[in-house]
Amino acid sequence: MEKTDILSLSYEELERKLLQIGEKKFRALQVFQWLHDKKVPSFDKMTNISAQTRALLEEEFYINSLKIQKRLVSSIDNTVKYLYVLPDGNKAETVLMEYHHGNSICLSTQVGCKMGCKFCASTKAGFVRNLEPSEILLQIYESERDSGRSVDSVVLMGIGEPLDNFDNVVKFLHIISHKSGRNMSLRHISLSTCGLADKIRKLAEMKLGLTLSVSLHAPTDEKRSSIMPVNKKYPIKELISACDNYFKTTGRRISFEFALIKGVNDDTETARELIALLKPLGVCHINLIPINEIREGDYKKSEFVESFKKILCGSGLNATVRRTLGADIEAACGQLRRDNT
Ligand code: SAH
Repeated sequence: MEKTDILSLSYEELERKLLQIGEKKFRALQVFQWLHDKKVPSFDKMTNISAQTRALLEEEFYINSLKIQKRLVSSIDNTVKYLYVLPDGNKAETVLMEYHHGNSICLSTQVGCKMGCKFCASTKAGFVRNLEPSEILLQIYESERDSGRSVDSVVLMGIGEPLDNFDNVVKFLHIISHKSGRNMSLRHISLSTCGLADKIRKLAEMKLGLTLSVSLHAPTDEKRSSIMPVNKKYPIKELISACDNYFKTTGRRISFEFALIKGVNDDTETARELIALLKPLGVCHINLIPINEIREGDYKKSEFVESFKKILCGSGLNATVRRTLGADIEAACGQLRRDNT
């Protein structure tokens, strides 16, 4: 019989599994606390559980783990980038960042990515598989253990498209926010998507209260499709309508990411088109990112980030420029890779 990955189970699933093997309901609370609060690596460390029950747990379940293959520390801003080896030998990158308001961690959700955004390094080597909930979660637990820092907020902005791994990402959100475990408020979690409109609607229905960031990067279908192939499947009108629905259903304002690329989307006309597109939405935020150049080197940083921001703010839109962290260790947005050895 194949053992179950116990760290990937939500509290309710754990409770059901334990009942099935003849345990009492309260056992779920004990086990969940050991796993997600005290974070023990093995069942024999669960000392308030009898040896007999621990043996039973050992038979039914296993506790997943990640190994650190590489750790790079930025000499500019103390950002740490981890390259983790997953149990099957695949790799995932994670970035731990320090802000004045606390530590933030950027998690990967897939091994590679199939979305094909032209400017992003994470998609260059293609897609392998989804990460399990435990593999998403362990990026936090292992980074905290190794660094001695405590994570205050989470961004799902590493390698992969989180909404393309919908069920596992939602399971991860349930586990990390459960009051008997890590108990992290979903208000401290942001999920970034390249714009899978149907999944944005599905997420809205769940009313989880997390922040949604949408990678827009261009205000017209022609331009967006030329740098983001996903736009052919979910054109701008459909995407913006899903965003409007998200805001109306959840009351959470959307954050739009806009990476400024020299000669592609950094001109005054594009700024005007962007204003015309987003103004009718009402409350939103635009996060301007000076594009981070990647080895493949097709796109260059814009020189007009500040003037672009001025035009947006002048129209009454709320726009800020995202600080680049970890530039000397290739840890910035879009620089993470599947096999960075
Ligand atoms: N798949 C998700 C999350 C991962 S990317 C998404 O597309 O949103 C996180 C953010 O970095 C996205 O806004 C993405 O478009 C942006 N990004 C990708 N490559 C970049 C680059 N070279 N420079 C700056 N931002 C980049």
